[in-house]
Amino acid sequence: MSKYWSTTTSALTPYIPGEQPIEGSMVKLNTNENPYPPSERVLEAIRRAADSKLRLYPDPHGSRLAAEIAGRFGLSQQHIFLGNGSDEILAFAFQAFFDRGLPVLFPDVTYSFYSVYANLYGLSHAPVPLDEQFRIKTGAYSIPNSGIILPNPNAPTAVCLPLEDIRRLLAQHTEHVLIVDEAYIDFGGESAVPLIADYPNLLVIHTLSKSRSLAGLRVGYALGQPELIEGLNRVKNSFNSYTLDRLALAGAEASFQDEAHLRETTARIIRTRETAKMQLAGLGFQMTDSTANFLFVTHPAVAAAVLFRRLREHGILVRYFDKPRIDNHLRITVGTDAEMRLLLEALKEILQAEK
Ligand SMILES: *Cc1c(COP(=O)(O)O)cnc(C)c1O
Repeated sequence: MSKYWSTTTSALTPYIPGEQPIEGSMVKLNTNENPYPPSERVLEAIRRAADSKLRLYPDPHGSRLAAEIAGRFGLSQQHIFLGNGSDEILAFAFQAFFDRGLPVLFPDVTYSFYSVYANLYGLSHAPVPLDEQFRIKTGAYSIPNSGIILPNPNAPTAVCLPLEDIRRLLAQHTEHVLIVDEAYIDFGGESAVPLIADYPNLLVIHTLSKSRSLAGLRVGYALGQPELIEGLNRVKNSFNSYTLDRLALAGAEASFQDEAHLRETTARIIRTRETAKMQLAGLGFQMTDSTANFLFVTHPAVAAAVLFRRLREHGILVRYFDKPRIDNHLRITVGTDAEMRLLLEALKEILQAEK
């Protein structure tokens, strides 16, 4: 606390990101980064963009990137909003679409930034419980609200909501915006983007951080009807006109020109994930049926907090959330086959010692 802080700042509870160790010796399975490098074309484009033009401001609309993304989804540029990571877009969207008074609804177990943004803007919010298997129950959202936000697949549970359920929510809540945060959609879920044409209340948010191996570049985008995109632009242009720098725009554009790289790396991660599911089950772990690049696991014999600490001693970082309902679970990012072998060996050893 400081006497110099505003009352708003004093009341904040900021998000705590996963650990980013300085030295490179840890096996990093804690922040859902992609274990494979980005496309070589992305790196080339960034090198090419690092020239004297850096003296100039970037295109405030990111028109070329927006056009590239629009083309990929059969939409127009007016359907695309670009942001400095999808976290920034989420922050703008909370301000653009949700009002004080009625609560914003999101699952009780979900991405913890949602409650942080709600608090930042003084919005009331209500947790909507997942069922026993950590599935979203759409019927539970039939309460007065100022909007709904869901990750699909959900995080950290990795569970996917069928498209029909999203369609039903959109049809039931036509007066408010439904945000579907599809940070992990490229790893096997069914995207809601095709529903945009029919539902003016749908905003879908994507990121280049996970499936496109570009967490360090900070690029995300939202897709929705022009009305919603204009709302986001109003907030953005009341805040910072140049949220994406020249290098990020160049790199992101190149990423969309190498879809083969996306297909290959996501296919590899999905294969590794399915093998890891079987191997972890073999060690007695229980887990949700992940369609993401991470696994949400629990062990009947050894507490997750203990596993988390012991793995760390073995040089393996995973994510542990000391929160109601999930404080006996670990979220484990799917790494390379070699990293998953190290994880399995360490877990085998830890389970032997702890039993
Ligand atoms: C990783 C993640 C994000 C943030 O992605 P950035 O584009 O890197 O800001 C947003 N939502 C969910 C659910 C995530 O897991």
